[in-house]
Formats: sequence, structure tokens, C-alpha cells
Amino acid sequence: MGAVLAAAAAIWGIGAVMKTPTSVRWTMLGVLYLAVVMMQLVFPDGHPLREATGGSIAPWLILGVIVLLVFGYRKALNWLRARADAQSEDTQDAPAKTGSFSETELNRYARHIVMREIGGPGQKKLKQAKVLVIGAGGLGSPALLYLAAAGVGTIGVVDDDEVDNSNLQRQVIHQDAGIGMPKVHSAAAAMRAQNPFVEVRPYLRRLSEQDAQTLIADYDIVLDGTDNFETRYLVNAACVAQGKPLISGALTQWEGQVSVFDPAHDAPCYQCIFPEAPAPGLSPSCAEAGVIGPLPGVIGSIMAMEAVKIIVRAGAVLRGEMLIYDGLYGETRKIGLKRRSDCPCCGTK
Ligand code: ZN
Repeated sequence: MGAVLAAAAAIWGIGAVMKTPTSVRWTMLGVLYLAVVMMQLVFPDGHPLREATGGSIAPWLILGVIVLLVFGYRKALNWLRARADAQSEDTQDAPAKTGSFSETELNRYARHIVMREIGGPGQKKLKQAKVLVIGAGGLGSPALLYLAAAGVGTIGVVDDDEVDNSNLQRQVIHQDAGIGMPKVHSAAAAMRAQNPFVEVRPYLRRLSEQDAQTLIADYDIVLDGTDNFETRYLVNAACVAQGKPLISGALTQWEGQVSVFDPAHDAPCYQCIFPEAPAPGLSPSCAEAGVIGPLPGVIGSIMAMEAVKIIVRAGAVLRGEMLIYDGLYGETRKIGLKRRSDCPCCGTK
């Protein structure tokens, strides 16, 4: 009997060292036990194998019964515990019932939860939402920070650039100490530090067509804050193909604009409004023309605002409209945008 117990201990010990799952180890012990019981049943009295495994079936049966009792007792305890947990969840107050929020999260999002348009259900939608932000630059900076702070559960960020000294006049998600670091990692660190309850996924790359399709398939909403037309058309095409809303922002010097492109809801797509990229030199970049520091803060925050509104289904989203903000004169205006039936991207002709 001692030899069998030693073999059992060896199975358990080697399994533990090799990190074999406990269930597998229990199954191996079960097989060993059955083999011993079979030996006692099959071989005649005095057979060397029977002698080596204790000589009698009785102690083995007693051992089996004891093990079964212990297992049964533990199962019953677990069942009682699960029932008690389920009951205590039922008796908790309303916000806790709306999702698996911890006390700290409930407290953190309290200013949302008291709002009629958001409440517990809206905060749960935010937690379940997946938003992809293209570009961790001027527009991405406030958009990413506010999405994280608002509790958007999964935030992806795509960028192939590194933090540069000349970015820091407006790209507030990055720090002086992060100069030289990939922007996606600098931004991810800032978001995680701001809100450890959200999942941040950094993608260090320049989007390819294939990439855009597979990445966007994983998300509900896309924010585009890039400064090159090639990426804008690529992202737009992928969003149109997959019926995902595209929140797009752009900046020049003192003026910014933002719109939600969403042909799936009968709003125009980006290419309905900008059928083709301007000739090089006609649309100067931020580096060439300059941009006032707080401007991306304004427009990027509006982009985050539109994302939150789409997620919680509140108010009127900027679909088929473009909001234009002129920082120099403190003016805003809205213009209506029409879908084009001959759009090369979403057109029906
Ligand atoms: Zn279109």
C-alpha cells in the first residue's frame, strides 16, 4: 500500500513541478486508484501484485469513500457560497446591478451616473464600448484622455511616430520625459495612469489597407485625428465598408472642424465631402502653417464628446453636419453636409 501512496505522491509532485492542471493530476490519481482496485478484484489471494498493493480491497474502498465524502463536502460548501453571493448581488442598490463596477468605479463615475442621459446603464455601455483612435497627436491627446477618463472600456490607439520636443506645445498627453518614445506607448502610459479601469491597446504602426480593415473590425467607433490624407481615405473606406461611425477632426492655425461621417445612418462619408486629396502644397500641414496650442484641445474634446454621445445614445450627433470653430474670433458655426450618390466610396451610382 505504501508503494501505491508513494506513486500517488510522485504523480502529484511531478505534476506540480511541471505545472500540470490540478484536474489532470486528479484524473491520473483516479486512474491509479481504479487500477489498484481492479488488481484486488481480478487477481487471486496471495498474488504478488495484490500483496504489493495492500493484499485486501477493504482499505482501498474505505479510502475511496473518505475521498468522495471530502469532495462532496467541498462541492456543497461552494454551492452554498455561490448561492449566498447571488443573493447578496440581488439585494444591492441600483447602480451596482447595472454592471460589474467596483465601489471605486461607481464613485469615480458618479458625476455621469447622476445624469439622466447617462445613468448606470449609460456608464455600462461606456464600459462595454470599444473605440479606436487613429493618431496620438494633437487631436488624439485630449480625445484619448477624455475617453479613458469617461470610462470607455477598451481604447485602441494607432500611431507610428515618436514624441518630439516640438509636439509638446499642444500634444498634452505626452510628457517632456517621453521625448523619443513611441507616441502610442507614451499615450498608453498616460491613460493607464489616469484610469486603471480601462483597457488600452497601443498599435505602433502606420496603417496599411489590410491593417485598417482588421483593426477597425474590432471596434465600435473610430476617431481620426491624423494629418495625412492617405490615412484619412484609408480609414474612411474601412469604416464605410464595415458600417462604423467615423468621428473626424481637422485643424489649421486658429480654426478647427469636426464631423461624424456615418453612411450607415444616411450621413455622408469623409469622401462625400472631400472627394479627392488636395494637391500637395495647397493644404499646408500643422508643421508648415502652425497651429495654436489649445485648438486641438477644443476639437479633440468635441470628438470625445461625440463618441460618448454615440455610445450612450444621447442628444444629437454631428452626423451630416460639420462644426467649425474659429479660435481667433471665438466663433462657432455649423454647416450641413450632404451625402453624394456619386461618392467614390459610399455612392450608390
Ligand atoms: Zn461617401
